[in-house]
Amino acid sequence: ILSSIADGEMKKIRLNQIEIPHLLLMAILEQVLPGHGYISIKDTHQLETVTHLPVLEKDREQLQQVMDTYPVRLSRHTIRQMLVSKDVAYQYLPFTEELDSGGHTNTWIGQFHDGLLEQMYQNRVIFLLNMTCPVYCRFCFRKHKDSRNEQNPTVKDVEKAVQHVKDSLSVKEIVVTGGDPFMNRANMAATIDGLMQVDHVQTLRLATRSISYYPDLFLAKEGAYLKYLKQKSFELQQHGKRMEVATHFIHPDEVSPESLDIITDLVNNGIAVYVQTPFLSDCNDKGPELVKLFSLLRGAGAELHYIYIPCSPIHGNSIYWSSLSKGIGIANYLRAHLSDRIIPRICTATPIGKMDWYTSGWAVEKVEGNDNFIWIRTPYTPDYFKSFAPLANTLSNIRVNDEGTIDIQYMAQIGDEALLHGPRPKRVVSKKIFASTDDIKTLQYRLTHERQTAPSIVDTGLEKLFRLHETRVEMDARASEKEIDYIRSDDRITDVIIASSTDTTASLFYIKQLIKSLKDIPHVNAVRLVSKKFNTAPESYTRAVINTLGELNNLCVVNPLRLEIETWFTLGSEITDTHAKLVRRLNNKGITVYGNTALFGGVNDSDVQIHSLAYRMRKAGIEFHHLYVAGLALQQKWNIDHPVDSYDVVDIATKVRREGSGREIPRYMISTPLGEVDYGLTSSFVNENGQVKIKLDCFDLSYFKELNENFVLPDGITTENGSPVVPIQGLIKSNLFPVS
Ligand code: SF4
Repeated sequence: ILSSIADGEMKKIRLNQIEIPHLLLMAILEQVLPGHGYISIKDTHQLETVTHLPVLEKDREQLQQVMDTYPVRLSRHTIRQMLVSKDVAYQYLPFTEELDSGGHTNTWIGQFHDGLLEQMYQNRVIFLLNMTCPVYCRFCFRKHKDSRNEQNPTVKDVEKAVQHVKDSLSVKEIVVTGGDPFMNRANMAATIDGLMQVDHVQTLRLATRSISYYPDLFLAKEGAYLKYLKQKSFELQQHGKRMEVATHFIHPDEVSPESLDIITDLVNNGIAVYVQTPFLSDCNDKGPELVKLFSLLRGAGAELHYIYIPCSPIHGNSIYWSSLSKGIGIANYLRAHLSDRIIPRICTATPIGKMDWYTSGWAVEKVEGNDNFIWIRTPYTPDYFKSFAPLANTLSNIRVNDEGTIDIQYMAQIGDEALLHGPRPKRVVSKKIFASTDDIKTLQYRLTHERQTAPSIVDTGLEKLFRLHETRVEMDARASEKEIDYIRSDDRITDVIIASSTDTTASLFYIKQLIKSLKDIPHVNAVRLVSKKFNTAPESYTRAVINTLGELNNLCVVNPLRLEIETWFTLGSEITDTHAKLVRRLNNKGITVYGNTALFGGVNDSDVQIHSLAYRMRKAGIEFHHLYVAGLALQQKWNIDHPVDSYDVVDIATKVRREGSGREIPRYMISTPLGEVDYGLTSSFVNENGQVKIKLDCFDLSYFKELNENFVLPDGITTENGSPVVPIQGLIKSNLFPVS
């Protein structure tokens, strides 16, 4: 192993022609190249000595210039990883192209900032507790030495920021970040303890990349920091609050046994860990590496939250940039080949806030006279900022469009110009027929008692097993060995959904048997139990049921089998404190609860209702997974007479993004006989004589043939450019605008 490393090629290691699996290699390197801590590297000679990697003489002078401008810091952990992975080295080793002068000097630092506190959104603020990190990412927006050398805030500053939160009743969530806030234990303690006493605060989101690049921070001293966090999380729960940890992973080679261990430990103790992934050109921009990364992290218990496109447009970062169309296009690959539970939202962090592609925002047009900028439609309005940051009114790079939201100039290349969609036309008023209370009750009842998801996309030859996706099957709790054999024989299947006519709690006996068999199938890493009774009869989750579920959940580094509960809600008013308590108990066993919702015309198809539902789900700790816009069994019946207007879908996404937490945004989905697609992002409207049809951009015929070679397109489905085109009922489109 050492001789393979010594040639400095930073590639995988083979023994007897067999590549050593990455996680095993990481564990071996921990032993053969031990060492903890991090090192600030001042010059090129030190860089060579510390990393064992040569610097080319022709580059030495320029590289020194880079290091003088953008400081270099590496952990022993990242050095080990770099020795066998170019994709890790690419993120942390300095390179001469950093001298390229393209890009901004800085990115935006919050609409409102006062000391360590920044505010970009009405309902949440950022605390910057510490200005340095144990490792410096080369693509960091704070990469310049001036940012790295900023003075750290003091505990007094923290107390002032806590007071500001106390005085701001609209602030529900605090994102605690830096630099790495965990490097400043005194500030972290003052923050957690201070905010614990503020009634209206609901969630603390602690951001750290150390889980991936410096796990020693959490594991040193017998895991003292982890123990501290678990204790504080427990105390926060006693105060009706929640702790979450946010982290970054970019490439599967960054994943180590230590990082998976930390994630599992946190999640098993009721602390959600969510991952954000910057999209880096030539590193994680093809698709398969993201599928591998997200699958590994999921088994450990993480949630995949965002992919940021593109990487920060600041000086020295240009090699990491890719066009927006490339980033948007990655959604097709992920939707086709990744479990729906771990497809992150694809978003862009504009200077006035984030937007999600094809629901709460899109590319409008190029900025006239400046090829480096495009106008992006955002969900924000001037009014939104009035209460906390009137500054936004004076910005010169924004304009208010005809629908009243703000377009902002954003530095990026669009790539495919067909994605410049222009402004949204005015709404064509359609008459909405509102449902009566009885109708709503009937719909809620039927939703609880009837299977909603689409049929099998290919014939499985099995009555009790549906193939819903390349990675996913749904089977009945009374399934037999035949169904298990089907799953065993196809290593693309990662997710098994188990449904039962008597619901989860009454079928536990059978579910236990199935899970026992699934545990022996290494490619299955998640079991999802459909439980409508979670909504309607939460009391059926007795202590004994919760304990049994906890025993079935197996988050771990090797062969994980994660357990999740899938439930359904239609209106925010259905969610009560009982649900919140139940979620907390399940979370404390490492079990996630996620909710799906069907959009019904005249029932819940308004921005106010879905915003309220999303808020309540978040408050109760339920992850809002899918908001089905069209295509579910019950929607096909109800929405024919009470259609959902595609215009409302964008209005809903706009409000939820603008006024909710970024953590409560669902994926906007359309269910079809050939699988589920994202509204706008992985599907597109096809206009055929006024009938609404959807092209499934993420699938083609070969996709289905690979699942069953005898596959033929169902009646009524055609193809366009190789992708299926499916008629959709109950969704109306009142204009030709591609997004809404
Ligand atoms: S962890 Fe974040 S703040 Fe720290 S160097 Fe990396 S990108 Fe920058």
